[in-house]
Amino acid sequence: MTRPLLDVRDLAVTFPTDSGPIHAVHRMSFSIGSGERVGIVGESGAGKSVAALAITRLLAPSARLSGQVALDGTDLLQLPRSQLRHVRGERIGMVFQDPVTCLSPRMSVGDQLVEAIRAHRGVPRRAARDRALDLLRSVGIPDPVLWAKEYPHRLSGGMAQRVMIAMAISCDPELLIADEPTTALDVTIEAQIIDLLVELSEERGTAVMLITHDLALLARFAERILVTYAGSIVEQGTVGTLYGRPSHPYTWGLMQSVTGVNEQRRRRLTAIRGAPPSARAIPPGCAFHPRCPYVQEVCRREVPELMVHGGDDHASACHFAGQLARPEELREVRP
Ligand code: SF4
Repeated sequence: MTRPLLDVRDLAVTFPTDSGPIHAVHRMSFSIGSGERVGIVGESGAGKSVAALAITRLLAPSARLSGQVALDGTDLLQLPRSQLRHVRGERIGMVFQDPVTCLSPRMSVGDQLVEAIRAHRGVPRRAARDRALDLLRSVGIPDPVLWAKEYPHRLSGGMAQRVMIAMAISCDPELLIADEPTTALDVTIEAQIIDLLVELSEERGTAVMLITHDLALLARFAERILVTYAGSIVEQGTVGTLYGRPSHPYTWGLMQSVTGVNEQRRRRLTAIRGAPPSARAIPPGCAFHPRCPYVQEVCRREVPELMVHGGDDHASACHFAGQLARPEELREVRP
């Protein structure tokens, strides 16, 4: 990767509450290159969505943010709020989990797209309408003229998500952040939406950050994967490395609990024991230690740093990275 488009350094997010601070994200550092597709995976509460909202500064004003979020050299955490409006939509597009709740029920699909385009581009209404129809066509909406006149409640979940993607790319952003965009969809539509994101990324050169809890989904989408746990990145690497040589016990646990990543033979799915910790009570040392089958005494005391230990910038936050033998059934996993 040459110059990163997005460079996140030591990002931390804390929410003050009456019963004490909640540390949702801890010193997260990662980069996304121009046109690169990066997947962020982890269970609920791993800090993925909070990190995405922190990047775009869409969190409640009470949230305390620290670190650096540089978009092409500009630190978004230091940008005045008046300038953020130009970043969101124009430079960073967002796609959320439930598209219908993100669309206004009182405006037609076409009018909402036209408003979004005019708000950022200031073009005449006719030019904005032409652009809206082009966008609907490019995201695979059949008969865009007809569907532009419809209201969101008439759309299926898949079509509503396509409209949201059209809205998100309406100003040709350099980065698209998609937060669990397929969670509410069935598997066939899920595959179509993921393929659409890949296609848009390749055709337009848009970098895409896809947040999901489904590691198998990323085999279809990502070039690079970040695995998060309890608000921190615990493993990162290219998709080939993550599937071919995963090294963190949490990544192994995720792989053992999903279908689709091992196409070589049938295998028994195994859930990770226990539950992710509350952000109010992150365990000392390695946050994964209460659930880790390989835990040692040092794991309970010392926080493991995310260290590069292989080629392709493969890094793992485990005291024993590269020393543990991964489970037999994961040896045949391929992306
Ligand atoms: Fe498991 Fe210890 Fe590695 Fe944490 S540091 S993942 S507890 S072996």
